[in-house]
Amino acid sequence: MARSRYAPTPSGYLHAGNLANFERVRRWMDELHGEVLLRIDDMDGPRARPDYMERIFVDLEQAGLTWGLGPRTPEEHLANYSQRLRLGEYKQALLDWGGSELLYLCSCSRKDKVCSCRDNRLSKAELPVALEVLEAGASQRKYALKIKVEDSIEVVWKDKEMGLVCLDLSKELGDFVIWRKDGIPAYQWVSLLEDSWQSITHIVRGEDLLTSTAAQLHLSKLCGLEFRQVQFWHHELLCDEQGRKLSKSVQSS
Ligand SMILES: [Zn+2]
Repeated sequence: MARSRYAPTPSGYLHAGNLANFERVRRWMDELHGEVLLRIDDMDGPRARPDYMERIFVDLEQAGLTWGLGPRTPEEHLANYSQRLRLGEYKQALLDWGGSELLYLCSCSRKDKVCSCRDNRLSKAELPVALEVLEAGASQRKYALKIKVEDSIEVVWKDKEMGLVCLDLSKELGDFVIWRKDGIPAYQWVSLLEDSWQSITHIVRGEDLLTSTAAQLHLSKLCGLEFRQVQFWHHELLCDEQGRKLSKSVQSS
């Protein structure tokens, strides 16, 4: 059975761009007689505010956007579905995979133009200790765990709206973060795991997330997660009166 998701982030109120995204999700699943899951991406604790989270339920209801799977209320979300409850599982999945000798600790800031940390990549046996080092330094934001993207990694998929998409991940994104300096797993890792574990078959995203899709497809191939059969629909973003893209500030899905 087809399954898609609304994946709002409670770091701001939902806007027209988020709702337009969720409407596509609903429409697609209606066409395919599929089901919709609500997944609130609240891993980013400091930015996830309770009032934003509560408003998600109100806004979805007011927009007539229904879902059959996932929490029905904010309380239910916090008690059973919050991603903060699953930190251990995200970590265990990383340890089980082992990183294919592509992961490395990096303490550089964005201002550092040259980063040679990628030359010191971790074996599977070294990964548990590296994660401990990262977690110990999380309060001072010392280390992030990154993945090396080899040169000329081309990721290709067939998109519902954009047709055949071909993206050179090393050029478009380069090495990216798997576990953040503040000690929590990065969006790319959490989103991939959740989509895989929740058997998501259809994903609707704004075109600002094309590189994320490519990163996650690449990751799934490396770590053997069920994700490559997912069908994608990337769509244009809505703009406000100043022409700014609405979905940039609040990442959804
Ligand atoms: Zn570095």
